[in-house]
Amino acid sequence: MTTIENNLGQIHARIAAACGTANRAVTSVQLLAVSKTFGADAVRDAVLAGQRSFGENYIQEGVDKRAAVRAMGLPGGEALQWHCIGPIQSNKTRLVAENFDWAQTVDRLKIAERLSAQRPEGMAPLNVCIQVNVDGGETKSGVAPDQALELARAVVALPRLVLRGIMSIPDDAPGFEAQCAVHKKAAAVFDAIKASGLPGLAQFDTLSMGMTGDLEAAVAAGSTMVRVGSGVFGRRAYGTPTP
Ligand SMILES: *Cc1c(COP(=O)(O)O)cnc(C)c1O
Repeated sequence: MTTIENNLGQIHARIAAACGTANRAVTSVQLLAVSKTFGADAVRDAVLAGQRSFGENYIQEGVDKRAAVRAMGLPGGEALQWHCIGPIQSNKTRLVAENFDWAQTVDRLKIAERLSAQRPEGMAPLNVCIQVNVDGGETKSGVAPDQALELARAVVALPRLVLRGIMSIPDDAPGFEAQCAVHKKAAAVFDAIKASGLPGLAQFDTLSMGMTGDLEAAVAAGSTMVRVGSGVFGRRAYGTPTP
């Protein structure tokens, strides 16, 4: 068994335990393996262990890795889903639109419009999440919670995007209760949009939150997708590629 296969087993066990505690079905929480800074060989090990969705922060790195993994011709490799979970600048929207299955970090209409316009006709519509900044910080990415519905309304009107949900990246909070409290703010935004009656929400099913250190709290607060990097691939090397 590879280390990554072993790690994946441990993360699935943590997710299952958290679902048990929260009285939720294990199948209600998906695992996104965050492969940023790790090479295609690490992704290969995860694919061979059954993992199918991967998150990348740095767009060019993700594009290159996807191509390298595809060239390996792995069993199951045609079913991989690549999620952009890093900041998207205007000059990177085409790369995202042409190479990713999901863009989880949409926080401005301009970016959403470019992604829709640049999504190739031959590909399925791009799945997007609206990134919400739930714990303040003016320098942080993400829309304020009270702006999320307005952006959602604009995104559902774009022809080549499918609004799938909400994502958030809160700062580390000390302890389970504090982590739950901040995750519940994102859950409230998710619930409000779901209940809004907006058209185009048929596939609005994803609340992306929780990482290696706080996935239990995220699941308790309603997360449907935890994004786990170091818990799957090990500690990241010091120094990460620039976006
Ligand atoms: C790096 C990263 C993760 C994974 O973090 P870990 O603590 O390694 O699990 C999840 N989400 C985003 C947006 C990240 O940048």
